Amino acid sequence: MTATALANGSRIVLATHNPHKVAEFQEIVARTRADIEVIAYDGPEPVEDGVTFAQNALIKARAAALHTGVPALADDSGICVDVLGGAPGIFSAYWAGHAKDAEANLALLLDQLGDVADPHRRAHFACTIALVIPDRDGGAAAEHVVEGLWPGRLAREADGSGGFGYDPVFIPDGQDPGAERTVGRWSAAEKNAQSHRARAFAALQPLLADL
Ligand code: IMP
Repeated sequence: MTATALANGSRIVLATHNPHKVAEFQEIVARTRADIEVIAYDGPEPVEDGVTFAQNALIKARAAALHTGVPALADDSGICVDVLGGAPGIFSAYWAGHAKDAEANLALLLDQLGDVADPHRRAHFACTIALVIPDRDGGAAAEHVVEGLWPGRLAREADGSGGFGYDPVFIPDGQDPGAERTVGRWSAAEKNAQSHRARAFAALQPLLADL
């Protein structure tokens, strides 16, 4: 990942190996906090054995902060479907198996909801961001967790090729009736202005002020 030029020298390590997420964070940070330099974390990846978005985000951010000695951000995110009791949730990346096949994940989800009528297809994207600020002794001086939710519903079939993961089946709320599109049809700029990731990053802004 390329580093963003800095005005005041604040540096943050972004603990994700997902290139789609890296690109989205880069754009979100560049638009809202161009003074922050986002650098890639390429150290060891911890086992994500948490059972909530927050636990997994903290596991990733702690590993990156302690390995680099630099404040670290990590997100854990997924799609949560009401009629499935919030699943796939933290299992979104490998809903159809550990191959982490995005198309297979999406096909399985559509199949599972095959007989579910539109009013019952409510879902939201969730993004939890953990910020871990290391101390000088190899511990954490501060840990923060914020969340962003993006409400909507699931389409009946995939549409569009923009974004990644479940974007082609997610129809966000707030669009003009009759002109609703899945996120697969949104531009990157449209998505990054409204997404769960942008909402979580907005919630993080006050905490970044002290870096
Ligand atoms: P994580 O890398 O363990 O946080 O897994 C996130 C998974 O949730 C991704 O692999 C996608 O399946 C899904 N996901 C998270 N954010 C998005 C998004 O913005 N669009 C589409 N799918 C997403």
